[in-house]
Amino acid sequence: MPNFVVLGAGVSGLTCALQLAKQEGNVVTVVAKHMPGDYDIEYTSPWAGANFLPMALEAGSRYERRTWPELKRLAAEVPEAGIHFQKVHVMRCKKDEPTGFRLALSDGLFAPDPWYKAVVDDYRELPASELPAHMHSGAEWTSVCINTTMYLCWLAGQCAARGVVLKRAVVGHVAEAAALAEGGGRRADVVINATGLLACRLGGVMDAAVYPARGQTVLVRNENANTMYVASGTDDGADQLCYTMTRAAGGGTILGGTYQKGNWDPNPDPNTAVAIMKRAVEAQPQLTGGRGIEGLDIIRHGVGLRPAREGGVRIEKELIDGVWVVHNYGHAGWGYQGSYGCAEHVLELVDEIVAITKSKL
Ligand code: FAD
Repeated sequence: MPNFVVLGAGVSGLTCALQLAKQEGNVVTVVAKHMPGDYDIEYTSPWAGANFLPMALEAGSRYERRTWPELKRLAAEVPEAGIHFQKVHVMRCKKDEPTGFRLALSDGLFAPDPWYKAVVDDYRELPASELPAHMHSGAEWTSVCINTTMYLCWLAGQCAARGVVLKRAVVGHVAEAAALAEGGGRRADVVINATGLLACRLGGVMDAAVYPARGQTVLVRNENANTMYVASGTDDGADQLCYTMTRAAGGGTILGGTYQKGNWDPNPDPNTAVAIMKRAVEAQPQLTGGRGIEGLDIIRHGVGLRPAREGGVRIEKELIDGVWVVHNYGHAGWGYQGSYGCAEHVLELVDEIVAITKSKL
């Protein structure tokens, strides 16, 4: 029976573990320093919004394209996963027109004629009468918003229900993870490396191309925005963002944010927090019924470090110290919305390894 260790219990690792466990006969162990329920600066997934706002250009759209149907299914049919449908307004600022609306956060989201308009159900360009004066254009469509606390626990629960063993451990070298496999003392045949940002410090990997893209957020109890909102830019600097989304099942509303490359600071900056709240309430006054930021009821300030990577995500197989490893890290700001597409690619690489191994027997 093929035996797998998935190193990492963020959205990338848990999605791969679940998809592996759905295949009959696979023995799967998840090994991680941080598990669902933890909040730590080294663990990105709980800090995400999270929603589905495609960021890739069409040529790189495979992962997001292949993830959307599953997120949509979960929103429609599996309420306990903590995902619900929500309309989004994607706004292109006049000042961002010279860049073609391609920004640090995303190449494809603000494209005037995006590939994803054929993927989602009800994409429509907003008429000028529905746009604020400083907007060049905008679009509305139905996306999903994920309550990350619920969803990560749901993923872990789905894994456990299929026999996956979840273990707490800190691994110094990726090849060491193979020895932590369940299943009668056998080493894992394949280790899936889903260590996110920490891939830059993991022995055997030490990927110097990985860097943090710091995202500061404010989580509030106000849930009356009705639509999610994201703008292509702000007047407060290139690393400052403006977005809002209301999480499913009482998860509150996330106000964002920032995209600060190379910044490892785990502490919320108070000035940034005020600026985030001001931008959000200006964009969506209905959040506080017109009472400005005084009307916001704060649950917590947050900082998460998106696992960005020069050259983009790494999904590759590699033999390291005699252990087959499939890497799946470096998802920057799209780890949820690409999770099922990436897991699909990981499983294809696993099949290739199994074929190589069989051919040598
Ligand atoms: P992580 O969640 O960081 O998980 C890494 C795992 O590896 C952890 O379990 C960790 O303990 C383990 N690990 C690492 N090293 C070791 C080791 N040596 N030994 C043992 N275990 C180890 N994405 C979206 O799709 N949509 C959004 O709307 C969105 N919004 C975001 C907003 C913010 C503010 C931020 C910060 C991110 C957002 N993202 C969003 C991005 C998304 O959160 C990330 O891409 C995703 O969470 C990365 O998940 P991961 O599983 O790869 O990494």
